Amino acid sequence: MGTKYIFVTGGVVSSLGKGIATASIGCLLESGGARVTMMKCDPYINVDPGTMSPFQHGEVYVTADGAETDLDLGHYERFTHSTMSRLNNVTTGQIYKSVIDKERHGDYLGATVQVVPHITDEIKSRIAALGGEGTDVVIVEIGGTVGDIESLPFLEAIRQFAFDVGRENVLYIHLTLLPYLSKAQELKTKPTQHSVKALREIGIQPDLLICRAREPFDENNQRKIAMFCNVAPGEVFQAYDVDEIYRIPLVFREQGLVEVILRKLGMDLDSPDMSDWEEICRRLTTAADSVRIGVAGKYISHHDAYKSIYEALRHASAANNVHLEVVKIDSEALTDEESLEALDSIDGLLIPGGFGARGVEGKIRAVTTARTHGIPFFGICLGLQCAVVEFARNACGLTGANSTEFDEDTEHPVIDLLATQRSVTNMGGTMRLGGYDCVLAESSRAREAYGVHMIRERHRHRYELNNRLRPVLEEHGLLASGTAPDNSLVEIVEIRDHPWFVACQFHPEFQSSPLSPHPLFREFLAAAKRRMLSRVESAGARRSGR
Ligand code: GLN
Repeated sequence: MGTKYIFVTGGVVSSLGKGIATASIGCLLESGGARVTMMKCDPYINVDPGTMSPFQHGEVYVTADGAETDLDLGHYERFTHSTMSRLNNVTTGQIYKSVIDKERHGDYLGATVQVVPHITDEIKSRIAALGGEGTDVVIVEIGGTVGDIESLPFLEAIRQFAFDVGRENVLYIHLTLLPYLSKAQELKTKPTQHSVKALREIGIQPDLLICRAREPFDENNQRKIAMFCNVAPGEVFQAYDVDEIYRIPLVFREQGLVEVILRKLGMDLDSPDMSDWEEICRRLTTAADSVRIGVAGKYISHHDAYKSIYEALRHASAANNVHLEVVKIDSEALTDEESLEALDSIDGLLIPGGFGARGVEGKIRAVTTARTHGIPFFGICLGLQCAVVEFARNACGLTGANSTEFDEDTEHPVIDLLATQRSVTNMGGTMRLGGYDCVLAESSRAREAYGVHMIRERHRHRYELNNRLRPVLEEHGLLASGTAPDNSLVEIVEIRDHPWFVACQFHPEFQSSPLSPHPLFREFLAAAKRRMLSRVESAGARRSGR
């Protein structure tokens, strides 16, 4: 059987959780045995989100092949086993860029180049490229909201797509919101009707609707929506608020979403086996002991900016059977003794990636506290760089040591650009990006965690540990426990004489999923759990006067 295509659009408002809904559908179909892949179409003009501020756009997700993409690709990889690549995220910027390049190259043979058909054809060819041999279902999420000017070419492209591959091979799913008016104590269906109307004006009749609502809604509402949106009541599904996002596939399955998708697409699959998801949700919602992890960054006010970090911490907490409590620490506020002392009440400190000098000195002070007070520490990318600077200054006596990203004239540039990076001026995609191999040192914490000799992890940075200063760091006890196979780059450092102090140059958070928590996150949480338990024990001992 040929590839089937599912298109997911959104209406009424943004931030409906379309990415999670799309990923959940992928999860269910995969659990039934289908080979799925997913794609995100972003209507903005940036070529990729690599240059966008995390304050505005949330985290930049990095794929194994080194593409800087929308964070929804993170949901797709966490909810399924599919591997995302640069083909799985398309932006208006990319589409126009390649059409304009072709035009300059003379590929259009004198034609007037237009949105329809040239832009729409380019979009369709990107979608079609994901189908074919080895892929049963391609699920395409269209970013933005129906009615946006920018998303029109994408909607036109997916409308036409059904004619190219056959209507029987295409399914349109529309996700909307049913707002609740508290004064009237009523769920409102009108915005959904309008949104579907807008979609039909463009020529797309959704096959099924998924409606976000505060709580499950009754059959009356379901029938009303069905009637006015031109679908059967059994084609209106509910996405009510849940305590745990990994429960969404289960919520969809209970309502028979898979059966309706399969019937409409003429597909046959096994009934999805979701027992492992049920177990993860149980662990995530019922663990009794609470572990407090401090995350010190400059984007902590924006939850999406560290999305994959928070998710990886949650996967690790489920693996350790503890409840995760994230303590968000604004690194700019880490200026005085008091705020640093407060770190003693956390069970582990994580410093995530970042760019620019803002808040860095606060992070470095926090590393000192973690290192000298035996607080489990996990540094990621910029977090490794802060750890190395801190160690150089305070354990090796290299006064004023720094990264040249923050102080170009530092006397001890322990973190520096590689010569090859120095001449680069283009701000897009000029970093060390994507998967690189890394060899782990025998009897290191990293080696213990991974249980293998060689790993491959995803990078996104320009600066590296300066090899010229590596010997002095090593002499004072910083172990380079992960290096490039030719030993030319340090990828992981750790301190042996500490309960758990590990920092890596790569971004392990992009390879963690609920079903396979990342080994470094898992061991970091295990160390934090030990600290929590010993604290509980000593508090108990104090109380009983022992
Ligand atoms: N700003 C640092 C660099 O470019 C760290 C990047 C990151 O944390 N992703 O090397």
